Amino acid sequence: KIHVEGLTKDFDDTQVLRGIDIDIHAGEVVCVIGPSGSGKSTFLRCINRLEEATSGQIVIDGTSITAPGANVDKIRQHVGMVFQQFNLFPHYSVRENVMYAPVELKLMSKEEASATAERLLARVGLSEKADAMPSSLSGGQQQRVAIARALAMNPDIMLFDEPTSALDPEMVGEVLDVMRELAEQGMTMVVVTHEMGFAREVADRVIFVDEGIIQEQGTPDEVFGNPQNPRTQSFLSKVL
Ligand code: ATP
Ligand code: MG
Repeated sequence: KIHVEGLTKDFDDTQVLRGIDIDIHAGEVVCVIGPSGSGKSTFLRCINRLEEATSGQIVIDGTSITAPGANVDKIRQHVGMVFQQFNLFPHYSVRENVMYAPVELKLMSKEEASATAERLLARVGLSEKADAMPSSLSGGQQQRVAIARALAMNPDIMLFDEPTSALDPEMVGEVLDVMRELAEQGMTMVVVTHEMGFAREVADRVIFVDEGIIQEQGTPDEVFGNPQNPRTQSFLSKVL
C-alpha cells in the first residue's frame, strides 16, 4: 500500500510536482497518463527515492520513505523499477544480471540467486537465454530481462516508466503480456504508459497527470469513456 500526501518536487525554481495525493492499495494496478513534461517520471522516481521529495510525504506499507533518515536501500528492495531504457549490465550474462542485486546486497547466496534467476527467466519466457549476453537479445527480450531483474528482489511494488516506448512495435506485445501476467498475479503496479489499450484493459485505476497534479482519475471506463476534465479530454483526443 502506497500513501502519497501533498507531494511536491521542485527542480531549481520550477515546481514540477505541485501536490500529489493518492492512495494505492495492495494488488492495485494504476496507470499514469499525461502529456510530456507533466511530471509522471518525477512522481515515479519519488516513490523509490530516485528523487527526494521537496515536501509532502510518501508512506509505503507503514514506513515513511520521505522522513529524514529513511533507509533508501531498504525502500528499493521493496519497490522495483523498470525504465524505458532497459539499463542491463552489458558485460554480464542475462542470468548474472538477474542475480546481481540479491547477491550484491547479500540477500541470497549465489546458488539461491541462480535458482531464483532460472525461475524468473522462465516466468518472462527467457529460460533459453540465461547464458546469453544482453547485446545478443532483442529489445523486447532485454526489457523482459529487466523485469526479471527487478523481480529478483521480490518487491511488493513494481514501478514501470514507459517500459515499451523504446521498443520496435512488434516487441511491445511480449513485454505488455509479461506485465499483464504480473498484474493478474496480484502485484501492486504503477505504470506510466502511452499504451492506452493496456491501460484500458489492465488498470484498476487511471490517473491523468498534467502540470504536476492529478487532474482526473477513475476506472479506465470513466477516464477513457467519459472524461470530465477538459485537459483530459484534450489529451485523449490527441492520443486515442
Ligand atoms: P515524458 O512524458 O516526456 O517522459 P514526464 O511527464 O515524465 O514527461 P518528467 O520527466 O517528470 O515529465 O519531467 C517534468 C519536468 O521536470 C520537465 O519539465 C523536466 O524538464 C523537469 N525535470 C525532470 N527532471 C529534472 C532534473 N533532474 N533537473 C531539472 N529538471 C528536471
Ligand atoms: Mg517521463
